[in-house]
Amino acid sequence: MGMAIPGRLLPLSVMIASFLASVGVPADAARKGAGHFTPNSQIPEDGPKPGFVTSARRLFTAPELQDAPDEWIDHSLQWVDFTLGNYKPTLVEHPLRRAALIRIDDILHIKSAPQKPLVLAWYRARMERAVAEIEQTKVTQGVRIWKLYNHGFLVRTPTVTFAFDIVAGAPQHGFVIPPELIDRISRQCDALFISHRHPDHADLDVVRRFLKAKKPVVAPEQLWADQPGLMGAITVLERSTRHVHDLLVQSGRQKLKIVAYPGHQDEVLNNITLVTTPEGLTIAQTGDQWQEDAPGGDFDWISSIARDRKVDVLLPNIWAVPLDRLVRGINPALIISGHENEMGHSVAHREDYTQSYNRLFGIPYPALVMTWGESFQYNPSQFSER
Ligand SMILES: [Zn+2]
Ligand SMILES: [Zn+2]
Repeated sequence: MGMAIPGRLLPLSVMIASFLASVGVPADAARKGAGHFTPNSQIPEDGPKPGFVTSARRLFTAPELQDAPDEWIDHSLQWVDFTLGNYKPTLVEHPLRRAALIRIDDILHIKSAPQKPLVLAWYRARMERAVAEIEQTKVTQGVRIWKLYNHGFLVRTPTVTFAFDIVAGAPQHGFVIPPELIDRISRQCDALFISHRHPDHADLDVVRRFLKAKKPVVAPEQLWADQPGLMGAITVLERSTRHVHDLLVQSGRQKLKIVAYPGHQDEVLNNITLVTTPEGLTIAQTGDQWQEDAPGGDFDWISSIARDRKVDVLLPNIWAVPLDRLVRGINPALIISGHENEMGHSVAHREDYTQSYNRLFGIPYPALVMTWGESFQYNPSQFSER
């Protein structure tokens, strides 16, 4: 390929720019585009790219398969379950876990993956197992956090259980869990928090089922303007960096303390929600927080969240840019990455576990990458004060 200087000594952006030049991408395009890309930067879909990837956005993960034999998918998914069953999420991660998560990426980036019966059956089985586990798990200390689909999490302490951004899946592809499973999740929870109105975070049927089970649903005001009746039943908390709200749950027996930070995804109102449990543990979920770091923007207050609050666990949209600034502003004891492999997104936008590792690399915080249905027990005494 004619790279004259040993690539290892060069920054990745320089390597990519010189590579693009070597495959005929004009130097100025490379300078304006790919030369500035890093695994942690925003990459335009139509950015300059070499021929071996379908989009510049896919430069930092292996190229996707167009299709694959069912036997390979079936054996791979069975091996993934076997491996992840033997090597649970831990701070010092066994390398086999990463191999298994990357194999999941390979399968979920087959273009037709959301329509493949094998993939759907695997998703449903993992969620079914997670819900059965949640139903049987009593937490006696700290907090256990289950990662469900996409950016959905279920959080349980000795006294309370709550969830963020629970959706059935990607309904446009029929890639969903059955409604009975949603009912079982709602029965396990004391409250549901929805970050913003996009359908990979807010699911009308899920909300109806939580409300029917008399569980409060907290969301920003513009969630469903076309559903005034439903919006009347949803709890809308003032979006504010200062206001700490009390949310009574379990018929008033327990109280959650909530800060609904006034975030945005472009023009859409997006709550960054901090929930403090009766034990004093704080969990933060960012939704699709996405705004340029510019004067007067959300980063003005994101950068000082940690000055006012102590966050134990952060559940970010892992492709947030700049992720390091978001994390530093919140300064959590632990990060659990979120929003990977959203099957409703096109392959170029279906952010994967491989890229989560890329993005977390160099961020000096304990972090975990988990897949659908996995959980982690966080005990604050095992994490250093930050
Ligand atoms: Zn969104
Ligand atoms: Zn999203």
